Amino acid sequence: MKVAIIAVGTELLFGQTVNTNAVYLSRELNLMGFDVMYHHTVGDNPARLVEMLDVAYKDCDMVITTGGLGPTQDDLTKEILNDYFGDELVLHEPSMESMKERFEKLGRKMTDNNIKQAYMPSRSHVFKNDQGTAPGCALEKDGKYAICLPGPPREMTAMFESYVRPYLEGRTDGSMCYRLIRTFGIGESDLETRLMDIIDGQTDPTLATYAKEGECYLRIASKRADAAEAESAVKGMLADVKKRIGEFIYDCDNRDLWDVVGEKLMAKNITISSAESCTGGMFAEKLTSVPGISAVFERSFVTYSNGAKEEILGVKKETLEKHGAVSEETAMEMAKGLRKVSGSRICVSVTGVAGPDGGTPEKPVGLVYIGAVCDDKEVCRKVQMRNISRQWNRNFSMLHMFDVVNRLIDGIKD
Ligand code: AMP
Ligand code: MG
Repeated sequence: MKVAIIAVGTELLFGQTVNTNAVYLSRELNLMGFDVMYHHTVGDNPARLVEMLDVAYKDCDMVITTGGLGPTQDDLTKEILNDYFGDELVLHEPSMESMKERFEKLGRKMTDNNIKQAYMPSRSHVFKNDQGTAPGCALEKDGKYAICLPGPPREMTAMFESYVRPYLEGRTDGSMCYRLIRTFGIGESDLETRLMDIIDGQTDPTLATYAKEGECYLRIASKRADAAEAESAVKGMLADVKKRIGEFIYDCDNRDLWDVVGEKLMAKNITISSAESCTGGMFAEKLTSVPGISAVFERSFVTYSNGAKEEILGVKKETLEKHGAVSEETAMEMAKGLRKVSGSRICVSVTGVAGPDGGTPEKPVGLVYIGAVCDDKEVCRKVQMRNISRQWNRNFSMLHMFDVVNRLIDGIKD
């Protein structure tokens, strides 16, 4: 079934509210096997909403609206769809009762304009709003469907999960399965080149690449008559993809690199500490976002100045003078010094030129060294980033730290 999502609300057109409802609905509907064809956004304007409905129904069987179900004058979505489907609004007693109850519980007086929220199209299927006052509804006529949902994301998602999903299940003509594969260390064009023959010949499953901040994602999707069939088609293509670019893949289920690394560290009970210069603690911040990481994460230092590198990590003055703070020698002394003070099994360091100033011909902005030690292994990775921005350089350095650690963990024989 082809679907269009219409977000209603002038605040969306003003750029005051981000249209997160469309993102949520698209993701869920696609997973359920619907074909989401369009996202439209329209202000609180009856004539333009009708125009948008005309456009949407040219191609689609179902329109899902969000917003415009509130009690105020500008909330008109339900009224317009009611007219569009040639229905009439009648008092829906259960909605009236639950609204009264809700106001009583909150100790607030129900105003007259709230009552309009309990008037629903007579032939509609009403969806209860457990998180607010405005009920939603589904309309159907001559094989065309409309579903009206409230605007506030908390109300919309709760209504979708509890009532709309069960209503829609069984109305799909297939089942969708997709995997989001995350890679690091390979550019989008290189990735595409290596996968070109799969991408070229694809019908189902489909394979698409996306460039993200410093990373590339791949999406493999299949829509088949049943879920098991779709799943096995995706699995088959994933195996093929892994053969070609497996060395760059760090997760096949859309997890962040720090989550993957954190979970591996915990699973293998490997302790870790970090010493950061140009990233200023970003590595530690991401690692500590992983629940339970205290079991393995020992400590982290932000050693920004040369003095701190000497005092805390024991980096030698001569090293700093001879090779500079941004050098392989300093990065390795940072990692080794960190091991002395922390005793962690993996110790990782970073030092680099974040920019925008401070670069020299020998050490341009975006030059970063990551040092790491693990058992008898010592590694240093030199990265020269394109100088996109200070924040980008810092973020990319942090990702490289996780990638270095990830590869060290994978190399541990247990
Ligand atoms: P409404 O149901 O039109 O009264 O919308 C109420 C509130 O929900 C708005 O003020 C927004 O903050 C939020 N909202 C409405 N539409 C969206 C949307 N498409 N995405 C995210 N939030 C929304
Ligand atoms: Mg509104």
